[in-house]
Amino acid sequence: MGFTVVRGGRLLDLDRQEAPHRDILIEDGVIKEIGLPGLAAPEDAEVIDATSKLMHPGLINGHTHSHGNLAKGTGGRWTLELLLTAGPWISGNRQTEEKYLSTLIGACEMVLKGCTACYDLMAEFPTPSVEGLQAVGKAYDDVGMRAVVAPMVADTSFFEAIPGLMDALPASLQKEVERLRLAPYDVTLENMAAIFKGWPMDRERIRPATAPTIPLHCSDDFMIGCRNLAHEAGLGIHSHVAESRVQAVSAIKRYGKTMTAHIDDLGLLGPDFVVAHGVWLDDDDMRRLADNDSSVSHNPGSNALLGNGIAYARRMIELGVNLAIGTDGASCCDNQNMYEAMRMASYVSHVRGPEWQHWLSPQEIVRAATEGSARALGFDRIGRIQPGYHADIVFLDLMAINWIPVNDPVNQIVHTEDGSSVDSVMIGGRMVVRDRKLVGIDLSRIAVQAEAACERLAEVNAPNRALYDKLESVVGSFCPGLARQPYHIHRFGAAPH
Ligand SMILES: [Zn+2]
Repeated sequence: MGFTVVRGGRLLDLDRQEAPHRDILIEDGVIKEIGLPGLAAPEDAEVIDATSKLMHPGLINGHTHSHGNLAKGTGGRWTLELLLTAGPWISGNRQTEEKYLSTLIGACEMVLKGCTACYDLMAEFPTPSVEGLQAVGKAYDDVGMRAVVAPMVADTSFFEAIPGLMDALPASLQKEVERLRLAPYDVTLENMAAIFKGWPMDRERIRPATAPTIPLHCSDDFMIGCRNLAHEAGLGIHSHVAESRVQAVSAIKRYGKTMTAHIDDLGLLGPDFVVAHGVWLDDDDMRRLADNDSSVSHNPGSNALLGNGIAYARRMIELGVNLAIGTDGASCCDNQNMYEAMRMASYVSHVRGPEWQHWLSPQEIVRAATEGSARALGFDRIGRIQPGYHADIVFLDLMAINWIPVNDPVNQIVHTEDGSSVDSVMIGGRMVVRDRKLVGIDLSRIAVQAEAACERLAEVNAPNRALYDKLESVVGSFCPGLARQPYHIHRFGAAPH
């Protein structure tokens, strides 16, 4: 690749909350030197003009689902449990090329909105496949984005996972949901081992991981199997933990302790473990996560949309948990916009109460969405613009309306930017977005393919949609009833609702 020098831009300084003019020298996709304007560079270096641009580290999405992108905007008023019930309808019967397409749509949206890496929990029913995972990896590769791609797996259906739900279904529906059974866990573990063993991509850019989806949906033997597999292969583990109050109550019923205490006892927690959401964590749970150097991906937009509550991110930081920020999938967020996720993280922390000193600061939020998420993904040289780090850089147009005038770059990235000022995006020294357009990707072609895919999927998933329609009223009344049962949370301060 050789040398590139970026000249004329303003570089975000997170610690000082300012953006002085700096030039950046890049060699083979890695930042070599940062200096005052006029920085010396080899004669043959490619020059990038960043005049009137604000440069900040690529945002890193701590939690998303590639399969969600083809289902964007399907549900407007779903709880998490209704969304899970709708899963076979909105994500079922996907062919390999549709898994690729769904991922491509999300990757395009993320890079166009300043995000350069993500942790993707992708679902395949009834068990993950080598072709499926490689198709997802290839989509990120084709866009030029970094990603951790984790097959989202379970060996227990949603209806078996929630105590009492199966019994609440009429006999005819009990029989119908039986066809939603997942593969036995040993088959899924074997498939994941095959995925990891033959992984064809550069792991510095795109690497696999494991994602036992929700501990309640996995037998203990399966959770331990995922742990062993991840540890042997040196890969991450990501799981939805304490996302909804239904889960929190169900965990106490099933394990006699919180979900976090249970998976800690199973030996799952460690530096490679990421909790998605963590809305219903108590102090003891957070301490366990902190003691194990685990991370939480804080997904405030999804938590609000699905009615799960407000995660207590301030307390997580106080107790030493690494905080990442994520959008969650397009079927529960619905866009893949990290600026919006950051703004939501700020606003929901304010909504918790008038003690403004407890609110997350814009500085803490940008740090979480860059360095914090980088740590959650397990990539050690992204999330900062400094020598030795990969050149993953977003160029915001300071002539765009969000930046007129520039008063405080950190506050404005969180509170005034919405993704519309993203002019260019560099990943590993290569421009993947230039002049607000994807490089080498034709969005209009993707739109045509997406329309055709959605038409085909609507047809093949019609029986799954019909089943959803029959289940909605039962799940939609049973689960809120369960959530209303007493659940003692030992947290400091008020409960989320
Ligand atoms: Zn999720």
